[in-house]
Amino acid sequence: MADYPKRILIVEDNKVDVRLLKDILEGRGYETLQTGDALEAINLALANLPDLILMDIQLPDISGLEVTRRLRGDERSRGIPIVAVTAFAMGWHEREVLDSGCDAYISKPISILRFLRTVESFLPPESCCREGLRQQGVFTSHNSR
Ligand code: MN
Repeated sequence: MADYPKRILIVEDNKVDVRLLKDILEGRGYETLQTGDALEAINLALANLPDLILMDIQLPDISGLEVTRRLRGDERSRGIPIVAVTAFAMGWHEREVLDSGCDAYISKPISILRFLRTVESFLPPESCCREGLRQQGVFTSHNSR
């Protein structure tokens, strides 16, 4: 069962958003890693090879689009699904986000249902996380991590 639970790297510099995303995801049984720093995001992605990356576009130094381009340029991280999390009100355009190599995007403010639907389109809950496995009877006790 080495593939479970699935791990999601949250790249987000806004602490309130990090808390929200982490709580939602961990509540669904996903494991999370987090950073608000672009270069650390690249290092964490390459070191941990998460199953999905949530990428805030608006980061302090290097934009999430540039981080995405760099991850797409490295064969180790090329295939990891990346979902941009962005406020289009900040001037980013959908085409620009997808052209950078992101597979999908979620607009801020985050709608929990739409957010989960997007994440689960990449990592179906019945196959990848603790809650789904518990429903299938695979997990019988709490995993205390
Ligand atoms: Mn931000």
